Amino acid sequence: MSQTILVWLRHDLRLSDHPALTAAAGGGRTVIPCFIRNTQSGRKWLPGGASRWWLHHSLDQLGADIRKAGGQLLLRSGDPVVVLTEIAMETGASAVYWTRAVEPLDRQDEKALQSRLEKAGIGSEGFDGHLLFDPRDIRSQSGTPFKVFTPFWKNCLAHSKKMRAPTGKVSARFAASVPDSETLTQWGLLPTKPDWAGGFSKHWQPGERGGQAALMAFAKRSSGYDEGRNFPAQDDTSRLSPYLHFGNVSVAQAFAATTGKTRSSAGAVSFQRELGWREFSAHLLFHFPRLPDKAFRPEFEKFPWRKDSKTLRIWQRGQTGFPIVDAGMRQLWHTGWMHNRVRMVAASVLVKHFLIHWKEGQDWFWDTLVDADLANNSAGWQWVAGCGADAAPYFRVFNPVLQGQKFDAKAVYVRRWVPEIAALPDKYVHAPWTAPDDILAKAGLRLGVDYPHPVVAPEVGRQRALDALAELKTRL
Ligand SMILES: Cc1cc2nc3c(=O)[nH]c(=O)nc-3n(C[C@H](O)[C@H](O)[C@H](O)COP(=O)(O)OP(=O)(O)OC[C@H]3O[C@@H](n4cnc5c(N)ncnc54)[C@H](O)[C@@H]3O)c2cc1C
Repeated sequence: MSQTILVWLRHDLRLSDHPALTAAAGGGRTVIPCFIRNTQSGRKWLPGGASRWWLHHSLDQLGADIRKAGGQLLLRSGDPVVVLTEIAMETGASAVYWTRAVEPLDRQDEKALQSRLEKAGIGSEGFDGHLLFDPRDIRSQSGTPFKVFTPFWKNCLAHSKKMRAPTGKVSARFAASVPDSETLTQWGLLPTKPDWAGGFSKHWQPGERGGQAALMAFAKRSSGYDEGRNFPAQDDTSRLSPYLHFGNVSVAQAFAATTGKTRSSAGAVSFQRELGWREFSAHLLFHFPRLPDKAFRPEFEKFPWRKDSKTLRIWQRGQTGFPIVDAGMRQLWHTGWMHNRVRMVAASVLVKHFLIHWKEGQDWFWDTLVDADLANNSAGWQWVAGCGADAAPYFRVFNPVLQGQKFDAKAVYVRRWVPEIAALPDKYVHAPWTAPDDILAKAGLRLGVDYPHPVVAPEVGRQRALDALAELKTRL
């Protein structure tokens, strides 16, 4: 009888470039792919609402692809450590394989599973697949993890031989029948009423096929990335982030698709550098597992944040009175994604102009982003808040009006997402409160009625942020 290997899937929902699956399928062994929905009470960082939507559709498609290949995707709920051991015993599997994660709780699960399986006489092994490099291999000259991006990425590129190259579609012999599986319908991952994700399908095709198509389309237009990536009205970034998070596309595939004689343009190099930021964030989380909970620079734990749930709600709803921020927050709500430039400005306004703790923003993004990723989200928020590794200094405060004028000069983005101010001339559309009464009347806009006054004037907010920083210094 041939051996059976369980493959525990998490952030690797694809059938190509999958080292764990390839290893499991080796030697003609039978493979049972499993996804375990973690239902442990009190477990932190379970997928938020938008991620659950993506997960549902990704698993649905993966299940269909595995069925086409003659197998079945086994779905179960509970504590993955316990459930996987049970499945291994039920099926007589000789080992459980998985793609190694960087998230601290997922890594704890891997360790616990390994020791539980060992006690039961069952083998186990973790494989690469989530990153370009093994975080243990990339170290500074003194042997410590890098805390600054530029030397980190230089070091990665200098060791490109160690970079994982993608492999093709895995040809596996999947088990035709598996023990009882739960169903996606039973899991209820999709929102019911209200169906806030109703518009998501217009923007996304979750799963491996959609991801590979998005990657191929982007590779063809990647030469425009470097110049266009900062302009939210343009479709110049790849929008691969949710595919990369769920592993519908591997980072090795994304890197390889933009490498080569025809594709190594400035745009491709700049895109690969952004993949480098993903890598940097993941390595940081690997080495500093408290990143999602604690300021990387500990002195920021004493920062005088304000508790202000009313303003937080205004920010979440895209009603701050700063059009570029409101456009971003509404794009997020309607599509589950926000352009990077606008993420930086919206996050900066929350932590600086409003002095609200970065963790409040992190939590909102966690629930609403389809690409919510523990490493990128924590590192992104700490970068903006000035308390992260290689962060923007706190005293550098983005002016939301100037950012809008610079990166959305024709206000195409703002008018798309904040239609109530669309009739304002370009000159005023990023700062409606500066428009004279006759211009407001002509645009049919009643400030404070149709669209809010800003929560705080940009200069006042800026000064308050700088005062808070000065106060922090007195507390150290
Ligand atoms: C406050 C804040 C929170 C963020 N939260 C997340 C998050 O939860 N998940 C997430 O994937 N990204 C996050 N980012 C990073 C970045 O905004 C998104 O990765 C990017 O906007 C995704 O769009 P794209 O795929 O078109 O990116 P592209 O510009 O096409 O970049 C390609 C890929 O590189 C990676 N990448 C790009 N920029 C960054 C970055 N600054 N840091 C880390 N990786 C990057 C992503 O995987 C992205 O898909 C956050 C940024 C900020 C400022």
